[in-house]
Amino acid sequence: MKEESYKKAHTLDTEDQLASFRSNFYFPQRDGKDCIYLCGNSLGLQPNTTQTFVDEELKKWREHGVEGHFTGNKPWVSYHKNTKNPLSKIVGAETHEVVAMNNLTTNLHLALSSFYQPKGKRTKILIERGAFPSDFYAVYSRIEVSGLDPKKNLIQLAPKDGSDYLSVEEIIRKIEALGDELALVMFPGIQYYTGQLFDIKRITEAAHKVGAFAGFDLAHAVGNVPMSLHTDSVDFAVWCTYKYLNSGPGGVGGLFIHENHGKNKEMPRLSGWWGHDSDSRFKMNNQINPIPNVDGWQLSNVNILSHAAHMASLKLFDEAGMENLRHKSVKLTGFMEELIVNSDVLAKQIRILTPANPDERGAQLSLFLVNHGKSIFDYLINNGVILDWREPNVIRVAPVPLYNSFADVVNFVSILEKSILNER
Ligand SMILES: *Cc1c(COP(=O)(O)O)cnc(C)c1O
Repeated sequence: MKEESYKKAHTLDTEDQLASFRSNFYFPQRDGKDCIYLCGNSLGLQPNTTQTFVDEELKKWREHGVEGHFTGNKPWVSYHKNTKNPLSKIVGAETHEVVAMNNLTTNLHLALSSFYQPKGKRTKILIERGAFPSDFYAVYSRIEVSGLDPKKNLIQLAPKDGSDYLSVEEIIRKIEALGDELALVMFPGIQYYTGQLFDIKRITEAAHKVGAFAGFDLAHAVGNVPMSLHTDSVDFAVWCTYKYLNSGPGGVGGLFIHENHGKNKEMPRLSGWWGHDSDSRFKMNNQINPIPNVDGWQLSNVNILSHAAHMASLKLFDEAGMENLRHKSVKLTGFMEELIVNSDVLAKQIRILTPANPDERGAQLSLFLVNHGKSIFDYLINNGVILDWREPNVIRVAPVPLYNSFADVVNFVSILEKSILNER
């Protein structure tokens, strides 16, 4: 690694307005030093305030028992409302369009129960080939329980020969070709394997033009790139919070339902008591009256400890701001790409699967090892780098703007060079 690259990293870190946020996180340790953690796309680090937020609720439980539902400044009965404001800014929604609840796949099934209602010719769902397994299983099984054949009704769009990713034009052409047979387009915000950021606005527009709904899985997009779900007229979106949102392993998931659908009480849905009008909920009269917004999709009372951990991280996002995070993220990922592409050691050994255009990606780069295998990954792990391995030989690295530095990036690329030289 060239000396000037270290100097450049140092300059960029000095200029970084968000640099101080790093000290809000615990880094895994190796030999008494912080690991180079580039795995925030898989499990975000723990904020050092998480324990305080969780302890506050444990204390309330200890001291007040069931009364905790109605006491304190954050009563449990309405605890989920505390996350609405910060979440709405992260995904570009109105506060009454977002709710934290359940987990991602559960929320996807709840959304499908409303937005996949096959009728007549309109029975098909379009997804990308190589979709995340849980998304695939969810739509596949939803088609099955609707009494239809997934082999005929689940359409998986593959990139043209040779390309690593789909162009938005290809997606739109497919939507137009399916026309009035299409019930739903379900795409990721960011593809988990390639790191490609999809054009949510144009995909939604195209789906609506043929009379289909558009839903998005934002697992890798939320807290990574700014979005405008409301103005883009997205019908629904789901996400998890343990990746870029740092809310802890298996942490509470999220759901967006556009207000146009939220206020429609006739929308078919799987219901539970927490989605029922809160004023009459405890009258227990068994007359379904859903809350006229996303909260009407809630099933169960609020998972408080998981929400508390979520709150700790959301507070940091609120302080940092999505636009500022994105600004740093583009530089941070661009810096990593520049170091890899300009490295004599790496240029021929690594093919970057992720689009080169910053508008078509988030923080993650997916590195395809041309002549090497898992031994490279093992070398990195043994040298204090934590990242993610995917078969056949892809390393996914995500420099996260909230806690990674430009020094992390240059140190990582330097160790990556050594791992390749070590194999010669
Ligand atoms: C991480 C991830 C999930 C995880 O689903 P859970 O229900 O939270 O276990 C689902 N889909 C995608 C695309 C993901 O990246």
